[in-house]
Amino acid sequence: MSADAAYDFDLFVIGAGSGGVRAARMAAATGARVAVAEDRYLGGTCVNVGCVPKKLYSYAAHFHDSFDDAAGFGWQLASPATFDWPTLRDNKTSEIKRLNGIYQRMLEGAGVTLFNARARVVDPHTVTLTNADGEVSVSAEKILLATGGWPWVPEFPGSDLTLTSNQVFDLDSFPERFLVLGGGYIAVEFASIFNGLGSETHLIYRGDLLLKGFDQEVREFTCDEMAKKGVNLHFSANIARIERKEGALQVELTTGETLEVDAVLAATGRKANTSGLGIDVLGIELNSEGKLPVNERYETQVPSILALGDLIAGPELTPVALAEAMQLVDIHFHKKTPRPLDYDTIPTAVFCHPNIGTVGLSEEAAREKFSKIRVYRTDFRAMKHTLSGSQERMLMKLIVDDASDVVVGAHMVGEEAGELIQGIAIAVRAGLTKEDFDRTVGIHPTGAEEFVTMRTPARY
Ligand code: NDP
Repeated sequence: MSADAAYDFDLFVIGAGSGGVRAARMAAATGARVAVAEDRYLGGTCVNVGCVPKKLYSYAAHFHDSFDDAAGFGWQLASPATFDWPTLRDNKTSEIKRLNGIYQRMLEGAGVTLFNARARVVDPHTVTLTNADGEVSVSAEKILLATGGWPWVPEFPGSDLTLTSNQVFDLDSFPERFLVLGGGYIAVEFASIFNGLGSETHLIYRGDLLLKGFDQEVREFTCDEMAKKGVNLHFSANIARIERKEGALQVELTTGETLEVDAVLAATGRKANTSGLGIDVLGIELNSEGKLPVNERYETQVPSILALGDLIAGPELTPVALAEAMQLVDIHFHKKTPRPLDYDTIPTAVFCHPNIGTVGLSEEAAREKFSKIRVYRTDFRAMKHTLSGSQERMLMKLIVDDASDVVVGAHMVGEEAGELIQGIAIAVRAGLTKEDFDRTVGIHPTGAEEFVTMRTPARY
C-alpha cells in the first residue's frame, strides 16, 4: 500500500486485543504505516482475563481428578494433596506478563507505533489520544475499532458485590465456597475450575438446562457429568439479593433458598465495549444487541471506520476475531475481493470439566434444516477409567444429512474434546460424507476412534 502523506498513518487501530494486534501486524507487513492505541493491557481479554489464564486454571483444576485417578494405577501420594491459590495466581500473572512482553515486541518488530493512551474518534480520520502526559490528535486514512467486549452484570440488590471474569483470576484469597451466576461458557468453565480446585461450588441458572444453543444431548450429558463431579446446579433460579455478613456473602435466590459463600461470579454475558469511543458523535448507530453493524468489508456506516471481533455480530471468540482481522487486511491492504467467513462451521470448545468440543449443527438445528437426518452417538467410560475407578463418561455424536450423506455436525463431551474436535472440524468444514468417515481407519486404542467406527444410527 502506498503511504498517503495526507494522514499520519494508513491504519490506526484502537485496542490491542487479539483482533486489533493481528490486523495491525498484518497491515504493517504490507508496508502500511500502522499505529495501535491501548490503555489497559496488551493482548486484550484473551491473554489477560480470558482464554489464557482460564486454560491455565483449568489445567490446575484437572489435577484434582488426576490425583484421584492415579491410585488405581499404583501411584500412592505421600500425603493428601493440598492446593495453594497464591502459587497458581502468581505463576499465572508471571506468564501473562511474559505474553504482554511478547505482544509488545511483536508489534514493535512489525514496525507498528504503539500509543499507551485512551483513544477517541473525533472525525472520520482523526483520533485523540489521552494519557497522563496530556492529549494529542493523530490522523489516519482508516481507523479500526477493535475494543472487544466487557462483562455485563444485571442489577439486583447487592449486584455490586459480584465479581466479573475481569477480577476472578486475581482474588486475594481462595474462595472455599464459590457461586457463579449464569449458564453460558464462562459460568460452566468457572464452576468446573473452582470445583476442581476444591471450592464448594454452586451454579445458579435462570433456565432449566445449561449452555443454551448447544446440542440438547450435549447439554444434558454435560449437566450430569458436572453434577457427578460435585458442582451444585440450581436451575430455574436467579439471585434475588446479596448481602455481606461477617466476611461472607449471603445470597438469596428467587426460589427462597439462601446460600452463604465467599465469592460470587456474575457470568451473565458480555457487551460490546463502545463507551467513550466517540462513535455516537459520528452518527454510527449500534444494532439492538449493542453491536456495530458492518458491511462485508468490515466498514461501519462511516466507511473509513472499520470494526471487528466482539464489537460486531458473530461468535465472541478469539479465533473469529483473528480470522476477521486477516480478512480485513486482505480486503483493505491486499485489495482482495471479500470472501465472507463461513460462520456455520466454526468449531468451539467449552473448557468445563469434562470439556465440550463441537462443530456444525446441533441435532435440533439439523432436524429443522434437513428433511431427514441420521444421528450416530455413543457414550462410554474411557479406557483410562477402567483402572482409575472414575465414573466419568464420554459422549460422541455425528449428525448426518441423510440425502447427501454429508456430516453436518460433530459433538463431543469428554477429556480433551477441544483438541480432538479441531481435526474433525476440518472434515466437517470440507463437507465430507459419513462414508468418508467410515473409510477412515481408526487409531487404537483411543476414544477418538469412535468418530470413525460408529456404524448404526441411534435415530433418524
Ligand atoms: P454467555 O452469553 O455465554 O452466557 C450468559 C449467561 O448469563 C446465559 O446463561 C444467560 O442466560 C445468563 N444471563 C443473561 N442475563 C441474565 C440475567 N439478567 N439474569 C440471570 N442470568 C442471565 O456469556 P458468558 O459471559 O458466559 O461469555 C461471554 C462470551 O465469551 C461467550 O458467549 C463466548 O462467546 C465467549 N467465551 C468463549 C469461551 C470459549 O471459547 N471457551 C470461554 C468463555 C467465554 P440465558 O441462557 O437464559 O440467556
